Amino acid sequence: MKDETGLMELVGIARLAASGELLASKRSIEYFELPTRRLLNRTSERMPFQWTINPYRGCEFGCVYCYARYTHEFMELDTVLAFERKIFAKRFFAASLAAELRKIDRKDWIAIGTATDPYQPAERRFEVTREILKVFAAGRGRKLSVTTKSDLVLRDLDLFQEIARSNIFHVNFTLTTLDEKLARLLEPRAARPELRIASARSLAQAGIQVGVFPNPVMPLLNDSEESLDALAGAAAEAGATFLGGGLLFLKPCAKQVFLPFLERHFPRLAPEYERLYRTGAFLRGEYTERVRERLKRIRARHGLRDAPIEYTPEPWEPEPEQGNLFEPAAAVRSS
Ligand code: SF4
Repeated sequence: MKDETGLMELVGIARLAASGELLASKRSIEYFELPTRRLLNRTSERMPFQWTINPYRGCEFGCVYCYARYTHEFMELDTVLAFERKIFAKRFFAASLAAELRKIDRKDWIAIGTATDPYQPAERRFEVTREILKVFAAGRGRKLSVTTKSDLVLRDLDLFQEIARSNIFHVNFTLTTLDEKLARLLEPRAARPELRIASARSLAQAGIQVGVFPNPVMPLLNDSEESLDALAGAAAEAGATFLGGGLLFLKPCAKQVFLPFLERHFPRLAPEYERLYRTGAFLRGEYTERVRERLKRIRARHGLRDAPIEYTPEPWEPEPEQGNLFEPAAAVRSS
């Protein structure tokens, strides 16, 4: 749509983003405010969770395989540099989020941090994630997860413990490799692998259920039995209960960063990836089955599950408008 000057008129989220107040700028990073009416987003049926919450748009960590870059397109911003340097902190009202939550089924899983990292550096200043968690801590009977690559997550241990008492809750750490050099290339500004493992250990020791996602598994980069096994061993030793595992998919926005990255750092792999992803964003066929079997074997070796345990939190009185919450576990039902 064009305005009276003949220029493209921005609508919806692009208009909100363009008018967002500049909150701060750090080196080449700029932070903006993004007023948000709805925080919860419905996911597709393929996902193991039904709702997502992403406190930020854009992500300073700048992983070369990041598939969420396309979200900047909605704001008429570029998906390479702007995605990493123009960070939008969502502004919301706790009462509105609580009202949104009242409308959704308590059996539904809600995942925080599926498109951008909820503990990226912006969180240190703006605490959007922490404010969201406070809403969950004041409620009960939800199924909630948080996914991150950051050790800043430890700051919110107090809230996690409160949430985990009355909700099914777990924290996922994304960890593609234990190799510090490779991690630095793939995830230039995320916490070092060692810090992520240490954070997983601290949370597990504090009673929070923790999982590790070796995502994305990338052909010939981090997919070897040896690499995945080392990662699973470290996860299990830190107290993680489950290990995920999803293959790299390359949407056009991710491809335009990932392929030049390969040309620069792994030139021999570039033609192989061109071939693998020539016909689509997803890998198919025998390789996917091989990785699935490999992960299954590795989980069994380290006593890890493939999904979190849906434990039963302490029983409570049901909220009147929602009826019964969780079924009390057998152990507490007898009392
Ligand atoms: S941490 Fe996640 S959202 Fe942020 S750049 Fe990396 S892959 Fe993208």
